[in-house]
Amino acid sequence: MLNKKRILALSMVFVLLFGTLAASGDAQTIQQTSQMPKYVFYFIGDGLGASQRQLAEYYLRQTTGDNSVKLTMNTFPIAGINTTYSNDTLVTDSAAAGTALATGIKTNNGIISQTSDGKNVKTLVECAEQAGMATGLVTTTRITHATPAVFASHNISRNDENAIAVDYLDSGVDFFAGGGLRNFLPQGWKDAQTDAAGNTIKSKRKDDRNLLNEFSESGYNIFYGMNGAQNFKKYTPKEGDKAFAVFTYSHNPYEIDRVNQNYEVPSLAQMTEKAIQLLSKDADGFFLMVEGGRIDHACHINDAAGSIQDTIAFDDAIKEAYEFYLTNPNETLIVVVGDHETGGMGLGFATNYFLDLNQLENVKVSAEDQMSGKYKGDREEFLSYLEQNCGLVNITADELTALNKAMDLVDAETIRPENGYKYDEAALAAEYVIAERVNIQWTTYAHTGTAIPMSAVGVGAENFGGFKDNTDIAKTMAELMEFKLSN
Ligand SMILES: [Zn+2]
Repeated sequence: MLNKKRILALSMVFVLLFGTLAASGDAQTIQQTSQMPKYVFYFIGDGLGASQRQLAEYYLRQTTGDNSVKLTMNTFPIAGINTTYSNDTLVTDSAAAGTALATGIKTNNGIISQTSDGKNVKTLVECAEQAGMATGLVTTTRITHATPAVFASHNISRNDENAIAVDYLDSGVDFFAGGGLRNFLPQGWKDAQTDAAGNTIKSKRKDDRNLLNEFSESGYNIFYGMNGAQNFKKYTPKEGDKAFAVFTYSHNPYEIDRVNQNYEVPSLAQMTEKAIQLLSKDADGFFLMVEGGRIDHACHINDAAGSIQDTIAFDDAIKEAYEFYLTNPNETLIVVVGDHETGGMGLGFATNYFLDLNQLENVKVSAEDQMSGKYKGDREEFLSYLEQNCGLVNITADELTALNKAMDLVDAETIRPENGYKYDEAALAAEYVIAERVNIQWTTYAHTGTAIPMSAVGVGAENFGGFKDNTDIAKTMAELMEFKLSN
């Protein structure tokens, strides 16, 4: 493997002319770093907008009783704001946003690391591989989902997850962890074990390829399903190890369910910790992408408690990287971004000046995976479920009207036209009632075009601050690492 000298070229040093700056008021980058980071962490919170970050931090303050508590990502010295628009719309999806963050180019929604006319573009992970670095992809979603996919595959459609799974085989990525077994097993697959959240393991492939076997033949340690989750936790990586760890049939559970349902699935922090153990054995350094993938899903269904718990789980993973940074401060860079905001989460509504987070402490279930389907025709039973699992006591007449309207829809097997993802109407209504009590409001079940916060710490972090576009993050990272991206 290549052992590059990690010294920045003199061309990276910009001279700051004080007179010019004062006269023009121009913001200029001051490049003081003389070293290239050896260990790079790229944290991407899917759907992590400013509101999501702030709400999670306020929640931590409430539950700890400490008004000075911050999310670890909010303690980093460099902060910035990124625009997220894609090539074909101001409201991006995760494929176009991920492509921007992974390759530095704008493409259309739905496309995985290709231009809008279908040409492959080089990713940061591919550059890191060429530079001889160890690489890793970690997520709470299916490992073939858009955000991890943009780093190690190319496809005109994010939905072609079977092909994305095949792309991973020769990606050279040393460490994979997440969900999504269904795209790696041959069609008709039956398994003696369940996945790590108790679901049946099935296949979505349309061929007979067993990619888990193919990964194993290429020298990967395989951890899959329930047994894999148990073994993964006991696993001590050795020098030269590669690991492919996929715990669930589809996405890993929401953090709120992983904790309250006692699922065996490792947390995002546990997966990140293991990734660091394995990748840090490479003398050439590493590039690790970690996605908090389910913040987005919680916000699509307007689940505030779910968003908070997955944001805190994402921050706990960042803590693992930050601990590594503290022992390797002169060689480590951590960049934390979101890919877009989801849900149009508003912290305040109408003429009310308050946020009451107490209500959210009593919510113990996700809207999508637990609450949905719980109303089956018995209204008293559903109201008592909401009382026990969401703390919805002392229901008001208005709240009951909203819930009854939704239960009418479920009884009639209809949904409102604006409920485009066909979420359970009763679960949506329960979330609406919870949000009203907290004084949160949502504008959409999709994404929004708002700019989002970025934080960074470590070697070269100062280059990421300011008001930038998402493509600038990838470009800056490439410049810092002397990588040659496509553009
Ligand atoms: Zn989304």
